[in-house]
Parts: sequence; structure tokens; C-alpha cells
Amino acid sequence: MDSVKNNEPTTHCHVVAVPYPGRGHINPLMNLCKILASKKNDILVTFVVTEEWLGLISSEPKPENIRFCSVPNVVPSELGRAADHTSFFEATMTKLEAPFEQLLYRLDPPATVIVAETFLFWAVGVGNRRNIPVASFWPMSASVFMVFRHFNLLPQNSHFLLDVSVKGDERVDYILGISSIRLVDLPKLRNHQMLHRILEAFTWVTKAQYLLFNSICELESQAIDVLKAELPMPIYIIGPTIPYFNLGENSSVRGNHNDLNYLEWLDCQPRGSVLYIAMGSFLSVSSAQLDEIAVGLRNSDVRFMWVARGETCRLKDVCGDMGLVVPWCDQLRVLSHSAIGGFWTHCGWNSTQEGVFCGVPLLTFPIAVDQIQNSKLIVEDWKIGWRVKQDVRGESLVTREEIARLVQEFMNLESDEVKEMKKRASELQQICQQAIAEKGSSETDINAFIKDLSKCNGR
Ligand code: UDP
Repeated sequence: MDSVKNNEPTTHCHVVAVPYPGRGHINPLMNLCKILASKKNDILVTFVVTEEWLGLISSEPKPENIRFCSVPNVVPSELGRAADHTSFFEATMTKLEAPFEQLLYRLDPPATVIVAETFLFWAVGVGNRRNIPVASFWPMSASVFMVFRHFNLLPQNSHFLLDVSVKGDERVDYILGISSIRLVDLPKLRNHQMLHRILEAFTWVTKAQYLLFNSICELESQAIDVLKAELPMPIYIIGPTIPYFNLGENSSVRGNHNDLNYLEWLDCQPRGSVLYIAMGSFLSVSSAQLDEIAVGLRNSDVRFMWVARGETCRLKDVCGDMGLVVPWCDQLRVLSHSAIGGFWTHCGWNSTQEGVFCGVPLLTFPIAVDQIQNSKLIVEDWKIGWRVKQDVRGESLVTREEIARLVQEFMNLESDEVKEMKKRASELQQICQQAIAEKGSSETDINAFIKDLSKCNGR
């Protein structure tokens, strides 16, 4: 078998990073790797993705000391990411371990540490077998980690399933570090199989040597304090791992997108007037609900920019003249544009942190998994957003009338309630930006992790 050779100058620390194969997972781990690589130039990062993802991301700009390696796709390439979510998830749990371990044998220089997403629990076994320390990277909020870790305290596992109805107002106030939460706001999975896999990952996480949280210490301090007291290994709170390093006047990123019309369009809109709508990279909302959103937005007379992915052409026709509908955009750059006054989000953890980083109030429209608990954090704990829908599991559509009314109120800059929410959003933005600034909490933990990485060298 060919070995994977290193052409870089002498490398003291070789990080092998392996994310779950999905956009919302690859992005934060790659951002972390870029931060590590920029702080320590004798670090080499091998970023391991499936062949399908290599095709999608290999042309994205990255520092020289990060290189890609691929493992075979976990489902046939003709199905790719479009395969049903449960089968794809199951395949990543069962089919990646062997090729990943074979790849480790071939790496030159050998890996000194593995940084693996927590869901890829098998990586902890591989590292332990081969005597390579593993840093488990948790890509969601610390609060969601806490809930999964203590799921056995809940009355029934079924509270984690999307299609099980629970009494809407029943609350859980007995998980340490988690403020009182409705059962309906706990994370929701599609089926038992996924739940069991996630719980399996939690039995492995304590066997990792380090734990990395993509969060901000000050924003989840209660959950983080409990986790630090409960878990034996060093824990680093290093978020948000969003591409803030690409922002700024001199950034070349503005030139990296083929279609820049949306930035030019934003440049022409009044300050704080545009609602940005995006619902992540892969989960979808029913066509009927999308139509209600489109007509509701059109009837609201509010300016908006909507990332509609594969539905772009169809929705363009419904949306009217006040809105711009695009298939994809540079989300952080859009959110940090002065024209943006609000963010309708599905509450993926990356999007949530990007919204907080940019100080933008949020309209929450969670679909599944951790997004539902993130919505609770946003609305009840941080008080920087409103829910579009009170109960995610309610079958009924949110109507065009409800949407038009809500969006008008949310984007009304004269409303006292909105002013208060914007003030809170700016406060959280400051906290977030201080965390990544020099000597901030995240910066300090990143430096501490790098220092500890150098101890992994030369075992
Ligand atoms: N994203 C983007 N452009 C878009 C929509 C999304 O770059 O038009 C990025 C977004 O910035 C985030 C990721 O895709 O980093 C989505 O991750 P998130 O955790 O929010 O949601 P997921 O897709 O995992 O459900």
C-alpha cells in the first residue's frame, strides 16, 4: 500500500482530524484546524473526509500545513448525501472505522493525535488500540451534550423521538447545568437506532484523552462547569469555530464566490432592514410549509434574502420583489453585513453561533436533533429570539398570515420589544468576540490545547 507522504518541513505535531461527513460538521472542524495551523506553523493537519466530500471541498482555500486525505464513501456515490438520513448515519458508524485505521498505518509522519468528532466514537477505539491520544470534538452545544449524557434521568427515552407526542408543558428541571426545559424542547431524533448510536458514542467519549467543545464558555457556563466537574479529562471550550478569520476588509473570500450579486444587493438595502432566511445544509421543510413561508414573506412587505438551496427557482417566482432568493451564500459574510436585521434560522449549532457572533436577533424554526434545544437556549435563556412555532412536533403548518404578522413585528425597528432583543444580541456578540480575542476564554483554551498537543509528540 502507498504511504501518504509529508512534503512539509519538519513536523513536530501531526493532527489527524476526522469529521462526520456533513457540511455542518466538516465546517467547524476545518475551522478549528485552520485556527490551530495558523497559530503553530510546525503543526501538520491531515483532514480525512470521504471521497464525495473531497470532491466538494478540495478546491476550498486552506493553509499549506493542512492536507486532505480521503476514505471511501460510506454509501454508494450515486446515492451520496441524498441517501436517507438514518442509513447514512448508520453507515458512518459502521463503515468508516476500517478504512480510517488503514489510512493511519500509511501516514508519514505518523499521527501524534487524532481529533475526531464525538459521533465517530470508533475513532476513540482506534486511537486507544494504536496508542495515539484522541481529542473528541463535540460539534453541538455543551447543553445538548449534558442532556444526552444524562438521558437516563429522563422519564422515557421516547422523549428523544420526533414522532412521539408528549405533554407540551411538562418540564425537566433536574439535569445539572440545564435550566428548566420543556420535554418538547429536548433534542429529537428520527428513531431508536440513531438514539442508540448516539448513546453508544457517549459511552466512548470518556475514554478519549481530551474533550473539545465548540462553544463559548460564558454563554453556557452552568453546563460547562458541571461537565468540567464530572469528566476526568482536560476539557477545552474553543468555540465558536466559525470562519471569523475570513472576515475583514482585506479578506480574499469576497472574491471566492462565483455569484456575488447577493452582496451587491445587500449593499443597496437600508441598514438593519433585511431578514436573512436559511435552514441549514441538508434537512428540509415540506413543500407546503415552504409555500406558506414564501407567501407570508411576500405579504409582509419586509425585505429578505433567502437561501433556498434546491427550491430556489420555484420559490423565486412566489416571493415577489422585496426578496432575493439564492441557492447558497457565504453565510457569515451575509450575517455580518450591516443591512441584515434578523435571521430566520433552523438553529443548527453553527448557524446559531454565527448569528450570535454577528449580534443578530433570531427567529427560530428548528427541524430536528439539537436544533430544538438550541431554539430554547436562544429564546428562553439568552433572550435573543422568538419562536416561529411553539411546538416543533405539532403537525400543523404555520400559516402565511401568521408568518407575515410575525415577520413584520420581528423586523419593526420601532418596537420596544425588538429594541430590547437587539440590545441583548449586541451584548452576546461582545461576549462572543471577547472570547476569541487575545486572552479571551476561547483563545486561552485553544492555546492550552496546543500546548498539550506538543506533549503528544514523540511518544
Ligand atoms: N451555510 C453557508 N451558506 C448557506 C447556508 C449555510 O455557508 O447558504 C453554512 C453555515 O454558515 C453553517 C453550515 O452551512 O456553517 C450549516 O451548519 P449548521 O450547523 O447551521 O446546520 P446543518 O446544516 O448542520 O443543519
